Amino acid sequence: MNRTQIIYSLIGVITLAVLAGVVLWSGVFEAENESLVPENQPAVSPKATSSSTNQTDKQYYGSSTIGQSVEGRAISVHTFGNADNHLLFVGGIHGGYEWNSVVLAYNLIDYLQANPSELPENIKVSIIPSANPDGVYALAGKTGPISAADVPADANPGGPERFNANGVDLNRNFACRWQPTSNWRSEEIDAGTSAFSEPEARVIRDYVQSHGLSAGIFFHSAAGAVYGAACNGQVGPQTKTLLNTYANAAGYRAVERFDAYPITGDVESWLTKLGIPAVSVELSNHTDTEWQKNLAGVKAVIKQFSQ
Ligand SMILES: [Zn+2]
Repeated sequence: MNRTQIIYSLIGVITLAVLAGVVLWSGVFEAENESLVPENQPAVSPKATSSSTNQTDKQYYGSSTIGQSVEGRAISVHTFGNADNHLLFVGGIHGGYEWNSVVLAYNLIDYLQANPSELPENIKVSIIPSANPDGVYALAGKTGPISAADVPADANPGGPERFNANGVDLNRNFACRWQPTSNWRSEEIDAGTSAFSEPEARVIRDYVQSHGLSAGIFFHSAAGAVYGAACNGQVGPQTKTLLNTYANAAGYRAVERFDAYPITGDVESWLTKLGIPAVSVELSNHTDTEWQKNLAGVKAVIKQFSQ
């Protein structure tokens, strides 16, 4: 190796050493930057508080007014969670006559507010606690969150409290087999001038049509059973599963279809016409919420839809 070759070799070695140094230095620099990221993230990420409240980066709970009754009383929805899998629970479509179904719905709102960890991340629950507030007002003299204490001790709701302020049975005002008159036991009753003639029915229609629903569960009293529904033909398999899940967990009778007397224009059948499984949960009497039974039913349905 002559002098020139030695010089070129030295230049080569020095160049390699400098390049290696640059690569190493930048690697260290990147590593330092990366190490900064996880330290900074918890302080700014909304997920930092998620473990105790089940909140994701969106809100866990919200409520809003979605319409008004004939007499201008607010109809509200309370929503928990953010998932696409969406369960709707509705109380009080039969107003003061079934006021315990309103109390049950408000109890469910309180429970989900207090126990956010009960709701799986892939489930959203919405609750319309009082679908016929004028009917509740006719009995209790108030609307919104009611309890048994708001109902007069001598109350014996027998008719008007069931209907809206136009005297229409709202659960005969939906667009499935709708007829202008319908039945409640042996009585002939007013089903409105057309399907969705009543503002309270339109509130539910518009909510359902603008929010994808996985299932609808409607609280009533007092037949002590869970009923499936179908608009035409047979009760569908999804409704049967929903019906049996709730009834088995809650300890109510499971009945595929209400057949004590013919019903037209009910909301449950209308939902199944849209391909949404739906059931009526009938409490056993007109005063108790049967809270533990119904909490078990609700939890079983949430579990079913989370799997
Ligand atoms: Zn009812």
